[in-house]
Amino acid sequence: MKSSSLDIESITQRFGNFTALDDVSISINPGEILALLGPSGCGKTSLLRIVAGFARQTAGAIRIDGRTVDDLQPNARNIGLVFQNYALFPHMTVIENVAYGLQARKESPSLVMKRAMECLEIVQLPHARDRYPRQLSGGQQQRVALARAIATRPQVLLLDEPFSALDKNLRLDMQLEIKRLQRQLGITAILVTHDQEEAMTVADKVAVMNQGKLEQLDTAVNIYDRPKTLFVNQFVGNCNQIQANVISSGSGFMQLRIADGKELAVPWTGEGFPAGKSVILTIRPEQLEIASSQRPGFIPARRILSTPLGGNAVHQIQMGESLSVKSIHKRSALDADLPGDIWIGLSDTASPRVFAV
Ligand code: ATP
Repeated sequence: MKSSSLDIESITQRFGNFTALDDVSISINPGEILALLGPSGCGKTSLLRIVAGFARQTAGAIRIDGRTVDDLQPNARNIGLVFQNYALFPHMTVIENVAYGLQARKESPSLVMKRAMECLEIVQLPHARDRYPRQLSGGQQQRVALARAIATRPQVLLLDEPFSALDKNLRLDMQLEIKRLQRQLGITAILVTHDQEEAMTVADKVAVMNQGKLEQLDTAVNIYDRPKTLFVNQFVGNCNQIQANVISSGSGFMQLRIADGKELAVPWTGEGFPAGKSVILTIRPEQLEIASSQRPGFIPARRILSTPLGGNAVHQIQMGESLSVKSIHKRSALDADLPGDIWIGLSDTASPRVFAV
């Protein structure tokens, strides 16, 4: 399958005087999968509908392989779609569902059958060809929907929350499956999701949206490790948020005053902040280290609660009257022996973020 580029150029969408999308630009390279990630109402579906041709934007352009598609009807855009609710035709068998788009294009019956079977093999369901959707599990139905979407060899595949109706274990299997298929076919794709783990698992690039605006477009790793805004930091992964005042910024570190007048030095390579500036310090729970005795740079604190979370343990820690933080580590037999009075500090590899308020 030939890979195509997709350019979303300065898309604005207004409904009356409400701006649902505000000058959003995203470029996706041929064969890449991009996750559109953001909370409910941030504009993900509106943007996907514009790319698919179901809605017309107020301003901006959509280009596939450099060609504007704004004046093309959805069925002329060569785009495959997979939705949350599978949207299979219940009265048609699996193979009829997969063949539907090809038949609508008036392809020859032999090519239709050959292509439909190929697609069923790709999603590993050739044996289910004569079953009806109601005879399949949710995951199988979603694979049929995927086979149907790729049967017409679309230039771009749009996946709108395709896994949200599946249970958690099946969801991870399907996420890995989609990524494998998307790589195998080299197809350019957009995945809409409000689930940050799903975006990280599936996508090459992640576009984080908030209130119609693009907050950050980056690799999944950079979105997690180097969030550009406080919103991205909060939305993607867990983080402790600590109000602080800058005491001084030097080269490679920043000295901050946090709760109860305690001081903390954090590694910092970005632009410094002036002394006295109010900031928000964010630290991922896995970047906070607990010690049972004093260590340089560590702060005295109190462990309130420790509880298992899968293979990890979560510790709730009180740092002064008004500040409590979470710390997450691999579960260990030593957790039970941790004292209430502890010391807390940054791990060697921690990369906390500091945002101006
Ligand atoms: P969800 O995850 O809940 O589906 P979303 O990120 O996909 O949310 P959209 O459905 O794109 O968000 O909606 C973005 C905003 O635009 C919302 O505030 C929504 O109410 C508004 N909106 C969407 N379509 C219309 C419309 N046809 N008329 C008026 N407002 C609309």
